[in-house]
Amino acid sequence: MEKQDLIGLSADRLRELLMDLGERPYRAAQLYHALYRDRQWDLGLITTFPAKLRQRIAEEFRARVPPVEKKFESADGTVRYLLRLADGKEIETVLMPEEHRDTICVSTQAGCAVDCKFCLTGVLGFQRNLTPGEIVGQVLPVMQENRLEATSKKHPTARPLNLVFMGMGEPLLNYDNVIAAILLLSDAEGIGISTHHMTLSTSGIVPGIERFGQEKVRPKLAISLNATTDAVRSRIMPINRKWPIAELLKACRRFPLRPRERLTFEYVLLEGANDTLEDASRLAKLLRGFPSKVNLIGLNPGPELPFSTPSDERILQFQQTVIRGGVPAFIRKPRGRDIFAACGQLKLAGAEMASLGAGA
Ligand code: SF4
Repeated sequence: MEKQDLIGLSADRLRELLMDLGERPYRAAQLYHALYRDRQWDLGLITTFPAKLRQRIAEEFRARVPPVEKKFESADGTVRYLLRLADGKEIETVLMPEEHRDTICVSTQAGCAVDCKFCLTGVLGFQRNLTPGEIVGQVLPVMQENRLEATSKKHPTARPLNLVFMGMGEPLLNYDNVIAAILLLSDAEGIGISTHHMTLSTSGIVPGIERFGQEKVRPKLAISLNATTDAVRSRIMPINRKWPIAELLKACRRFPLRPRERLTFEYVLLEGANDTLEDASRLAKLLRGFPSKVNLIGLNPGPELPFSTPSDERILQFQQTVIRGGVPAFIRKPRGRDIFAACGQLKLAGAEMASLGAGA
């Protein structure tokens, strides 16, 4: 009989499982700590359990985190992990170490149906939603391998650890599993990454944004906007035909922000498509008057993408125009471009990497 997977199960579900085995509830708390806080996935080695229970748990269950199939390291320190799921599908997780903090970029779906024209994952198409265990199971091995910890009473001096739900997939189209994963990732009794250190990015799924705003425990929200007219946005992001800019911004204005919280609008600059100074002024006009900031990202080029990257000078002019229009705007440094790990580049590019001579 196939062993049941424990990674991704909530504390309540673990309690039910252990009570079914005739165990007391405190054993479930010990198992929860072992899985998520102590990262002890060899169930036969959970030392808080008596030998007989250890053996029984190891016989009936397993704690599977997706194994690392390949690992690519960039000259700038970014590491891209290609992970293999139990059914053979492959997903990607990226670690971006910076001077004072680390950021893990997590996938929420295998492939993506949204088909943004500047994104290599879009080229791949949709395969399937990831389970909560497969989302949490990306973060745990990266933390383990790199000895990363969330700041907590046990690790008060740990470097800040950020999570961004910006990898493969549209998180709000895998809503329930993503929220279940966020609850596990943020639980102080377990993995303990504060939701203040998490950002979820959406292509603009309006009903999902509205639902997300009602969550008690939620990351910050980022919107991948990328255009200032419906004609251009529908061309580069077909999802805009369903939820055009006015409707999307209406949902953003209604979004219940916490004190000092701002929405982030991401804007990938595509030469000749959305990078004019008129676009920059229009962008400022669209966003003026509500708490927001803009992250500008020069396109990360890919072999199958029909766009190129504007010059640094154009990106700078665009930024200055947005700022003059009254909206804070920042240029985001591309990370891991040489290993196809930058924004929009996450795709199963193993063969391409091999031909470029990169990879492990
Ligand atoms: S940018 Fe995000 S939503 Fe758009 S195709 Fe790529 S993964 Fe999907």
